Amino acid sequence: IRHLSKSYKLNGTPLQVLRDVNLHVRSGESLAIVGASGSGKTTLLRVLAGLEDSDTGEVLVDGKAVRGVGAERAVIFQEPRLLPWLTVLDNVSFGLETRGLSREQARGRARHYVKLVGLQQFEAAYPRQLSGGMAQRVGIARALAVQPEILLLDEPLGALDAMTKIGMQQELARIWRDEDVTTILVTHDLEEAIYLADRILILPREKGGEPRLIEIDLPRPRDRSAPEFVRHRE
Ligand code: ATP
Repeated sequence: IRHLSKSYKLNGTPLQVLRDVNLHVRSGESLAIVGASGSGKTTLLRVLAGLEDSDTGEVLVDGKAVRGVGAERAVIFQEPRLLPWLTVLDNVSFGLETRGLSREQARGRARHYVKLVGLQQFEAAYPRQLSGGMAQRVGIARALAVQPEILLLDEPLGALDAMTKIGMQQELARIWRDEDVTTILVTHDLEEAIYLADRILILPREKGGEPRLIEIDLPRPRDRSAPEFVRHRE
């Protein structure tokens, strides 16, 4: 991310949200973006996803500038927005068919990712038959099935109750460990950031302040039995 700036117009007055953000996200790492409400976390993620244009600067993937959305970046929002008239399996395979896979290939790959998120027994269920956490897992399977290089997540567990959230954090940690994907996670939950991320980007509260990058040196979720980690969870 090079020299990224973004402002909005609010009642005719420009509101600078991101000012000269520079960041190199390493392949395979998990980066969390935290910051106070209104600090621009969602804006940054939307620019990275190509859903929003920046005023200046550029986003490069593997050294090449990207504009707009692209299959190498998949996004997961707080609400999974599943298609209610399709089953779990079809919700995951639908996007693959629109990307040119045959129906059989798409369903085969979808089955793999539905299993990965632990929902193989719910392949034929409809979204209305799922809990919030299960629906979000389908959303994660749908994003992973595209096999993106980069997964962008905006408060993916924000709508879940505390117990489900902890289970899902463990689930995400396992997926991050097993899948070769770079993840950028927006969250206002600092504990979640510490649990899931290799590095944390803190967006400043003051407009125009410098974003700060913190590298955390806690036992990674990959090593959840480490005593420091158990203490941290407690
Ligand atoms: P939260 O934690 O509350 O979700 P955030 O850090 O994700 O906040 P953003 O949603 O990126 O913050 O918003 C940053 C600022 O940009 C806010 O002051 C908001 O009012 C403003 N903003 C966001 N989207 C728009 C828009 N489409 N038009 C005008 N202003 C916007």
